[in-house]
Amino acid sequence: MVDDGSDGRTSVDDLRNAVEGPVLFAGDDGLAEEVQTFNRAAAHAPAVVVGATSGADVVAAVRYANQHGLPVAVQSTGHGAFVPTRGAMLVTTKRMTDIALDVEAKTARVQPGVRWGQVIELAAPHGLAPINGSSPVVGVVGFILGGGLGPMGRKFGFAADHVRSLTLVTADGVERAVDEEHDPDLFWAVRGGKGNFGIVTSIEFDLFDVPSLYAGGIFFPATATEAVLRAYRDWVEALPNEMTTSIAFLRLPPAPELPDVLRGKFVVHLRVAYVGDPAEGERLVAPMRAVADSIIDGVGVMPYSEVASIHQDPTEPAPYWEGGLLLRELPPEAVGALVAGVGPDADMPVQLFEVRQMGGALSQAQRGPNAVGGRDARFHALVIADPAEEQAARRSLEIVAPYSTGGALLNFQGNATAPDQVAKAWAPADYARLQELKRRYDPSNVFRLGYSIAPGADASGGPVTAAAAQGSGRP
Ligand SMILES: Cc1cc2nc3c(=O)[nH]c(=O)nc-3n(C[C@H](O)[C@H](O)[C@H](O)COP(=O)(O)OP(=O)(O)OC[C@H]3O[C@@H](n4cnc5c(N)ncnc54)[C@H](O)[C@@H]3O)c2cc1C
Repeated sequence: MVDDGSDGRTSVDDLRNAVEGPVLFAGDDGLAEEVQTFNRAAAHAPAVVVGATSGADVVAAVRYANQHGLPVAVQSTGHGAFVPTRGAMLVTTKRMTDIALDVEAKTARVQPGVRWGQVIELAAPHGLAPINGSSPVVGVVGFILGGGLGPMGRKFGFAADHVRSLTLVTADGVERAVDEEHDPDLFWAVRGGKGNFGIVTSIEFDLFDVPSLYAGGIFFPATATEAVLRAYRDWVEALPNEMTTSIAFLRLPPAPELPDVLRGKFVVHLRVAYVGDPAEGERLVAPMRAVADSIIDGVGVMPYSEVASIHQDPTEPAPYWEGGLLLRELPPEAVGALVAGVGPDADMPVQLFEVRQMGGALSQAQRGPNAVGGRDARFHALVIADPAEEQAARRSLEIVAPYSTGGALLNFQGNATAPDQVAKAWAPADYARLQELKRRYDPSNVFRLGYSIAPGADASGGPVTAAAAQGSGRP
């Protein structure tokens, strides 16, 4: 880090010299494109952006931000953008796309610009699969640090449970190698504490022997809504952990790329993934097939590389509002209330209302404890709507609120970004420990944007002032 010789702080030129990737300030050409989000309702307007190409670039960015009193945020793919970054340093990691696969050890080490699809594609020829989520375009690091609930969750647990080691740049601008033996507290906190403890510059995690799945989605017509949801509720009770499922009410747009049978329709989308003998998978799915005639039955044997076809998540950026909560149960009366309140005859303009089944391996950390919360839940409810329909979306979640554990999954917190809402992602004792570790590793709350864990009253540094946060970032 070079000093500008005047006030002891790194100058803009010094930052540009220290960093290999682009350095952009508010008003510079290319900044808006560099920081584009998937959720177009959250547009970042940072004071300064560092397009990192290495850990050294991230170190330079954090040190510069510290010297200029700027908070620091990080973006990889922009799939988790709900809090617009304003007047801060935003580090983008999309140029850091190296992947090292160790087929013998069944591990992958990836840089923070890697998306799940890239790992899946490299691992699949070896019969190996990572613990990815429903969408292959989501970033590996953001997904894992928020827990990571995937289509094989009940079999293998959360993605964060399978992290072996990682490197991250902490608030003091130091890049640290962290695992069970080195900085174990930090290792515990960052797996589940998301962006609160630093910027991850590489992460190593396990791969599993899953060359194929008995999996896919079944679309049922609106007329079958109640029968399918009632049957689903009973059906999941007896499923083995090898089977992970979810069910969604979808109000599909009149988009030309959709098949005629789905375009502009209300449909019920059952998603399943069975890890094991396909014949057993087929036997397990049979009761749901018998409930009603489907519009499309896409469940069958598939190579793991086609895992994205289970959920068929949207891939085009759009503005949206999102909210989620964890459920301890889904009793029959909840089914009736959901059908009445969110079903095809309801005046409920939400695009998706989804219930994911939890339990199984998700209930317990798989490789030693970490900070992932929500292990006591049996289901997760998620709603996505146009931002103009936020009130409707909130009403839809209220329907299942009586069955809530009181908790939330960090990766599905959506627009619930206020500190008291964020705190719901952990049991009180874990949140207290996270606050204590935040005081230790980020006393000035440098990483306070996004789903922020407040350091608490004992913070020695205290939050950076609002005035500094609004600064231009230029000395
Ligand atoms: C279509 C879609 C499908 C999804 N499906 C699932 C799913 O099945 N299961 C699930 O659990 N979640 C799912 N999610 C949520 C997703 O996992 C989170 O939003 C995740 O944070 C996205 O990470 P990202 O890097 O792609 O996004 P970004 O917007 O780039 O990053 C989001 C946040 O992740 C953290 N982060 C990213 N990179 C780093 C880094 N290098 N160091 C430290 N922190 C970092 C930061 O807090 C950052 O603000 C889905 C989201 C979308 C849009």
